[in-house]
Amino acid sequence: MSFRNRLYRFMEGRNGVDALSVFINRLSFGWLFGAILFTFLSILFMRRDAAAASTVFRVLYFIAYGLGLILLILWFFRVFSKNVAKRQAENTRYQYRMQKLRRKRASVKQQWKDRKTYKYFRCPQCRQKMRAPRHKGRIRVTCSKCSHVFITKT
Ligand SMILES: [Zn+2]
Repeated sequence: MSFRNRLYRFMEGRNGVDALSVFINRLSFGWLFGAILFTFLSILFMRRDAAAASTVFRVLYFIAYGLGLILLILWFFRVFSKNVAKRQAENTRYQYRMQKLRRKRASVKQQWKDRKTYKYFRCPQCRQKMRAPRHKGRIRVTCSKCSHVFITKT
């Protein structure tokens, strides 16, 4: 049996790489890279024996490499997990959160772009976000969500 076939058989019924795994993988490598950089800089700017002997630095190294390693283990665990339903549920939750984050970022960007033409505000009763064209003076607003009526300056 070829290696490719063996790998294929091994991965059968396992979760494999999904979006959350890719995120964890990047996070762990990013973190480990940071830890290596931190080690390198601490040795560069302190005397080697001083950095190695310092309890504070030992604890910092332990945390830095430990966390990166835990993330890497988590990545392996998720990729080779046979509880596919649970891993897929986690991945869906992750993608949902990322989508919400992306939407929020886009909204903030849009708000910044429109800051001269639109005034953004929230309903004082239900916190619904709204906007109105600027330079119209005091206007009466009826909330689209809860029908609360209030006055705002544009
Ligand atoms: Zn409202």
